[in-house]
Amino acid sequence: MARDQGRQMNSTQEYIDRADTDEKKGIIGQQWQDAISKGTIVCPCGINRALAVAYRCLYCGVYFCCGCAEKHFGQTIQEWVIAKRIEKRKALNDGARLRLERAKAAGQKIIEEYEKGKPC
Ligand SMILES: [Zn+2]
Ligand SMILES: [Zn+2]
Repeated sequence: MARDQGRQMNSTQEYIDRADTDEKKGIIGQQWQDAISKGTIVCPCGINRALAVAYRCLYCGVYFCCGCAEKHFGQTIQEWVIAKRIEKRKALNDGARLRLERAKAAGQKIIEEYEKGKPC
């Protein structure tokens, strides 16, 4: 067994140990067996998914299909995309404001220097 797989297996055992119900322990154990032997998992909703398109929760160790992952993680992909877009726009606006303030300050300094150097 590859070293990485061994490490994963330990963490799967940890997930099983930490799971609060026997049902969850069973799901995590079964998903892990399927993942190794078949490369697929069964989401708690009953849908069969290839491992490559399943989403595992970092915290509880359960694999989900896309729809259930969105529910489990508390945000749809669409909501996440919109939130990121707003975040990016705000960063751009903040950056533009900062550049404008710097330019104003620089301009002010040039005026002051000019006033100081004026002959009368
Ligand atoms: Zn979770
Ligand atoms: Zn599902």
